[in-house]
Amino acid sequence: MSLYQKIRQQGREFSQRTLDRHLRLGVTGLSGSGKTAFITSLVHQLTHGDQPAHLPFFAVVREKRYLGGQVNQQQVLSVPRFPIEQNLQYLQQKPPTWPPSTRGWSQLSLTLRYKPAAGLRAKLQSRSELALNIVDYPGEWLLDLPLLNMDYQQWCEFSWRLFRQPHRQAIAKDFEQHLLTLNQQDGTELSLQNTTDNYKVLLQQFHDTPGAYLNQPGRLLVPGELAGAPMLQLFPLLPEQASANTVLAKKLAQHYKSYCKNVIEPFYQQHFVSLDRQIILVDCLTVLNSGYAAIQELQQALQLILKSFHYGPSSLLARLFKPKISKVLFAASKSDHATPEQHKALSLLLQQLLYQPLKLSHYQAAVTEVMAIAAIRASTSGYVQVEGLAQPCIRGKTLQQKNVTYFPGEVPATIPSADFFTQHKFEFLALEPIQWAEHQPLPHVRMDHVLQFMLGDKLE
Ligand code: GDP
Repeated sequence: MSLYQKIRQQGREFSQRTLDRHLRLGVTGLSGSGKTAFITSLVHQLTHGDQPAHLPFFAVVREKRYLGGQVNQQQVLSVPRFPIEQNLQYLQQKPPTWPPSTRGWSQLSLTLRYKPAAGLRAKLQSRSELALNIVDYPGEWLLDLPLLNMDYQQWCEFSWRLFRQPHRQAIAKDFEQHLLTLNQQDGTELSLQNTTDNYKVLLQQFHDTPGAYLNQPGRLLVPGELAGAPMLQLFPLLPEQASANTVLAKKLAQHYKSYCKNVIEPFYQQHFVSLDRQIILVDCLTVLNSGYAAIQELQQALQLILKSFHYGPSSLLARLFKPKISKVLFAASKSDHATPEQHKALSLLLQQLLYQPLKLSHYQAAVTEVMAIAAIRASTSGYVQVEGLAQPCIRGKTLQQKNVTYFPGEVPATIPSADFFTQHKFEFLALEPIQWAEHQPLPHVRMDHVLQFMLGDKLE
């Protein structure tokens, strides 16, 4: 490289740094909340959606200043890459299918090019770049944060209080029986692994149970790169067993400590701490289908997840790490399962689910926003005439491949009471993706609002 080229390169790097040209965006949510679909759509909108009619609320596109986005080669080969190309292929199949869900953490890096709007940057450059890093990780991992504030005994008490809830009790019976017959003086590898395998089955059953969101430790369910590590030999003994001075209780307490130190803390230090902005997806419609106990547990899970974003001076996180997330977006995903006039109620419902935890936090470091979105719209909306009146409806294809036109029902704007659920059943149907051709931008609901909130100020 010539001296001239070196100076130019250094100058460009300097101006990129000084003009704050990097952004790390975290995307999370509990399993099935829509992370994979969301990132796939986000990347596709940024690389193909330059039409104002398609992204009207995204200022850089509306003002025709967006010059396009490009997915970069992966720089660090040891970091799992978000499989964007494969995911798009699933959506292009005939018939299209949803891509496989998030199983661990992954990243994707993009370069976004745009014309600066005004101000110093517009004077200095006719064209600017923003390096965007998208980090995908399971929300279940955030549910582990409170473990840092408990010891093994407290975690066992917490877990068994949860397992005795009506929607979990029957499922936990077999595991409880297994623990009751377990030799409490046997701390051998074989015995630990055997009971851990049993506990994993239980966690998976909970995971498949509508409304059972709080499943700890998160890495047992979604191990990522840690599959098979000895500290993952971990399960909650019954509280009275955990307090006894047995070989098993002592061994599990050790594994618990090791899990906190070697899994939870490094996750925050290595991944979380470097995030600038965060999107948290919440599937509120499925939880309505699942009933009152499910809503309560989702609220509890959100409360725990929110702890990771409240790092006031006295918080656990601020004592351990220095997070710098400045904006958090809570998105009610899959809003295309409801008719458009219900979307307002959907975002109010999510706001209410978050209200209590937000109110309880003494210090809120990040700007938060709530909206109802569909990353990949799988329905079209319209009206049908019912007894002379126009009734809103959606059209789509069910998972049983049946074309349907229907009114999915009203979305409550506040959390319904337990009584309400005894008389009313919600039935928001899951849908297959719409047939989509690669050269078209992916259909969505409010992804332009998401882009504006998350990136708008960085593309000024
Ligand atoms: P993840 O576990 O958080 O990665 O969730 P996914 O992105 O894999 O989504 C789980 C399922 O939710 C998908 O297979 C789809 O059935 C559905 N889904 C996700 N996003 C959307 C959306 O925007 N619209 C609709 N209709 N369904 C969606």
